[in-house]
Amino acid sequence: MSHSQLHEAEYYEILDQEEQSIQCHLCPFECIIEPGETGQCSARKNIAGKLYSLTYGMTDMKIDMIEKQHVYHFFPNSRAQTFATYNCNLDCDYCSMPDKIHMDPETFTGKRFAPDQAVMFGSASGSRVISFGEAEPLISFEWVRDTAKLAKERGLKILIRTNGYFNEQPVREMLEYVDAVTLDIKNLDDEGYSKNCRGGSFDHIKNIIKIIFASGKLMEFHMVIHEGLNNDANAARKFAEWVRDEVSLEVPLHLSRLIPVYRTKDFIPTSKELLEAAYKAAKEVGLHYVYIDGIPEHDTLHTYCPNCNELLIHRNSYATEVRRVSLQGYCNKCQTKLNVVLS
Ligand code: SF4
Repeated sequence: MSHSQLHEAEYYEILDQEEQSIQCHLCPFECIIEPGETGQCSARKNIAGKLYSLTYGMTDMKIDMIEKQHVYHFFPNSRAQTFATYNCNLDCDYCSMPDKIHMDPETFTGKRFAPDQAVMFGSASGSRVISFGEAEPLISFEWVRDTAKLAKERGLKILIRTNGYFNEQPVREMLEYVDAVTLDIKNLDDEGYSKNCRGGSFDHIKNIIKIIFASGKLMEFHMVIHEGLNNDANAARKFAEWVRDEVSLEVPLHLSRLIPVYRTKDFIPTSKELLEAAYKAAKEVGLHYVYIDGIPEHDTLHTYCPNCNELLIHRNSYATEVRRVSLQGYCNKCQTKLNVVLS
């Protein structure tokens, strides 16, 4: 990696000028980083007493249906220009891209994209939505913020998929440029986060969820269901109760099965019955929009009106048809205002 490619990071402080010791404040790990070392995420490095983002501009690009990001209420049936960034601050047992999250950015030989180049691809693709996700986009905070800001100026809509384990100030700054957030819930207590993701705190993430909700940006939750992760039907009920009591019945919850990969490769994939029990539990709590993602032809893929139960948006895997929602987001049958963004 040449020196000209280095991008100074934000959200850090110098602890000791002489020793050139610094502390990163991007996420709650608050790594203290000595010269020549990187933080826990391998993405931020202390070089001679300054913190640098090593992943600035590192991304894979593809165009995907927006539903693949577990987003059903934000421009349904759109193709999103997706930027798949590298590295993560967590290390979850069922991560589908462990090589990518553990990548040493200094060995990356692919092209790095300046924000204007990335936005140019986004505009040229004809997609209305730019999506950042796959590893953990907020680890590349500066690049994602710069790209999202530029894309927004050019009239594009911005979606971010995150684990939510970041400090309040950078999250608030990022929300200025974001229109929608998918938040992956990994577990329901700090012990579970430590065991399954080698760190993280659900209490901290709950606070971040409240900040995102209060910002008025569209938010959807995604949770992998499996007994081995302590994310069974009871966990779905417990999380739904917290969402009901502390956030809103209107926030969609997506449940999906564990695909055995990485440290869970010996697990049995989640059964359809367990997913259905989790779905039933979350619906009994009263959440308006609960989905089981990834089971073709299943009734729980569709969006129904929470008031009159009209089938509003029909889905079959990733084929989506918006049937009974007005452009302004009302049910065409009973005129209930829905938590759906179409324009
Ligand atoms: S972003 Fe990385 S370097 Fe910064 S505190 Fe979190 S894990 Fe540590």
